[in-house]
Amino acid sequence: MKSVWDFFEEITRIPRPSKKEEKMRAWLRSTAEAMGLESEEDEAGNVLIKKEASDGREREDAVALQAHMDMVCEKEDNVSHNFETDAIAHHEEGGWIVSEGTTLGADDGIGIAIILSLLADEELSHPRLECLFTVDEETGLYGATNIRRGWLTAKTLINLDSEEEGEFVIGCAGGRDTLIEIEAENERVTNRQVMEIRIEGGMGGHSGEDIDKGRANAIQEMARLLGTLTEEGADIRLAEVNGGNLRNAIPRSCVARIGVTERDVPSVQDTVEQFAKDIKKHFAVEEKTLNLSVEHVSNAETRFLTAECTTAVIQALARCPHGVLKMDEHVEGLVRTSTNLAAVHTHTTDHNTTLAIETSQRSSVEEEKTWASEETKKAFEGLNAKVETGKDYPGWEPDWDSLIIKRFERVWKELTGKEARIKVIHAGLECGVLKGSYKDMEMISVGPTMTGVHSPSERVEIASVERTREAVARALAMND
Ligand SMILES: [Zn+2]
Repeated sequence: MKSVWDFFEEITRIPRPSKKEEKMRAWLRSTAEAMGLESEEDEAGNVLIKKEASDGREREDAVALQAHMDMVCEKEDNVSHNFETDAIAHHEEGGWIVSEGTTLGADDGIGIAIILSLLADEELSHPRLECLFTVDEETGLYGATNIRRGWLTAKTLINLDSEEEGEFVIGCAGGRDTLIEIEAENERVTNRQVMEIRIEGGMGGHSGEDIDKGRANAIQEMARLLGTLTEEGADIRLAEVNGGNLRNAIPRSCVARIGVTERDVPSVQDTVEQFAKDIKKHFAVEEKTLNLSVEHVSNAETRFLTAECTTAVIQALARCPHGVLKMDEHVEGLVRTSTNLAAVHTHTTDHNTTLAIETSQRSSVEEEKTWASEETKKAFEGLNAKVETGKDYPGWEPDWDSLIIKRFERVWKELTGKEARIKVIHAGLECGVLKGSYKDMEMISVGPTMTGVHSPSERVEIASVERTREAVARALAMND
């Protein structure tokens, strides 16, 4: 019988960026076929593998097991890796599986591996199983959102996309993206020294789960630095500012190009150096590799934002909120509402400079999600900004009395002697979306212990994978 690790090993060799899951889809279907199981695919690209109940359990309702196919593709700047073709290099280290400069894809490859190992297990007692593998979770839960209607008949769903063993998630925040586009005027300016300021090596992390960890947002720090320069009276003009990558990640780097008059070069350099020391101090505990540098790149004349637009854009970026906005009243330590200033990209033509700013908000309270989005928009008022709402999905409200939760509490106690920890989280989960289509389905989200998810330091703890698999197996075996 193939183990979780046999399946995971194969999964690490299958490229699967969000929206490009075709290789994974094909592999899942051929793996099902090799096990003699039926599989189907819906219009969104999700895959469903079904297995009949084990002997004597044919009359019970089906249980759905669910994980997502895609993975976040993040790597260290100095690592060359093509996420569309290359296998994920990884090794074992002190009881963990770790990757080598890229995301590992244990989120959610390990969830898939656990489900497949359960399907491969002929000893397991279980009701009818509907194993759902969704596409495009990481960019906005799109697979779950567009799942074929009425596909599942299960009355219970176990999602395998959580990140801490023994911690069972029974509710989550909803989210919304707020996208801002600014058209700024530019002009050709001569006699400027072009300087490039780089903020790099931030820890980044997940825009929900890590939002309360006090980590640096490279774009926000850049805006603060540029703001300091203008406040100190330096005559600077912005050419471009680019940073961040994914809407659900805290930006780890940001690069700005500015034009500085000859006279102001030394004072700009001084201010940047001072600022570099300040942020090192400010983020001394968590951020070990955060680095700020400035380099004189050329004297070639180029296009810069007008003086007025330079100031306005810098001020708006510096005003844009980021981080925790409200904590939950009921659950200690739970963030209720937050916002992430995720990315900024500059596009320059002969007349205009367009800045596209991507932000995302999360809240378990629907009205606060709207409020957080409005607060973000406000930062860009007066700039003639175009504002759009991107993906927008509801939260998953906890049902504290559900049977599946009680089963996992029992199983965990039996298995480890420890109490299960029941949690509501500040991140989007597919359960929230699926709950929209399957209102009466009981749900729970479980998973082994992982750290550094969505960043190149992602790792998964080996023993926790085995315990989590066993917990799911035992929960399926229960039929009280
Ligand atoms: Zn995930």
